[in-house]
Amino acid sequence: MKPKKTDPMKSFLKKYPFLAEAERIYRLVDEAVGTPEPIQLPERAVTKTLTEKLPILQQETYKSRMVRAVSLMQEDVFTRIAEAEVPPLMQESAREYLAVLKKLRKAAKEEFIIAVLRQDKAAFAALCEQHALNEGFIRSTIWRMVAALVPAELKEPDGWNPDRDRPRFRENYCPVCGRRPVLAELRKYREGRTRDLICGGCGTRWLYARVGCVYCGNTNLEKMHTLEPTDSDLMRLDICDVCDSYIKTYRGPANGSDADAIYRQDWASVHLDLLAEEKGLHKKGNPILE
Ligand SMILES: [Zn+2]
Ligand SMILES: [Zn+2]
Repeated sequence: MKPKKTDPMKSFLKKYPFLAEAERIYRLVDEAVGTPEPIQLPERAVTKTLTEKLPILQQETYKSRMVRAVSLMQEDVFTRIAEAEVPPLMQESAREYLAVLKKLRKAAKEEFIIAVLRQDKAAFAALCEQHALNEGFIRSTIWRMVAALVPAELKEPDGWNPDRDRPRFRENYCPVCGRRPVLAELRKYREGRTRDLICGGCGTRWLYARVGCVYCGNTNLEKMHTLEPTDSDLMRLDICDVCDSYIKTYRGPANGSDADAIYRQDWASVHLDLLAEEKGLHKKGNPILE
């Protein structure tokens, strides 16, 4: 008899029933974004990132290409969100953005996307304030479209660093979009483990130093500590005492199974963010917040 295949999401939600609503909303936005054709990013874009440490979407040509692609789909996506069974506040925020886009010319519509890709928080906040829009919702939804438009092979850590003993890119920002990471993941490698960072914007994963703060670069281990939640040993918080920030670190054994993908989602461990918030720690890399 074949072993029964269990849906990893089902068993995950059975374990964390309070995350069901977050998962539902995440899934509905996923459906609204759909599966657009990824944008074309030639090998020379990757080469430039490797040699100049300039993320692909910060290179003018490819940034414009991404802006156009998001611009072409954003009205459809926000229309679908406005009609989906998401919380009323989200529906309303989507409708408000659509109403604003409707009266703007193409260049003005693109300004929102450009500010998001540049990670110009002040410029994007000003745009949203000017039009009375929900900043966090629109920014994070634009990132969801960007993530869908980045070719899948560029999101794989082994593509950026085929040889983990001789890394080609090992910065603390995403090689594709330039954002700071939102999560980390420890992976078995030879006798020990290596650490990949995960971008909360475009979903890329890339190799980084095994120890030290991913945000401020502190490498003094006496000024770092970890916090392990009592209910699970799959995730822990790596906390830096220099900058008071933390990164949730997945150290699951699943190794390539579907369950790994769940733990690479920021929403799937939001209870740990609450724990960190209680301790006055700063969260970084989440597109709703920055
Ligand atoms: Zn990214
Ligand atoms: Zn730090």
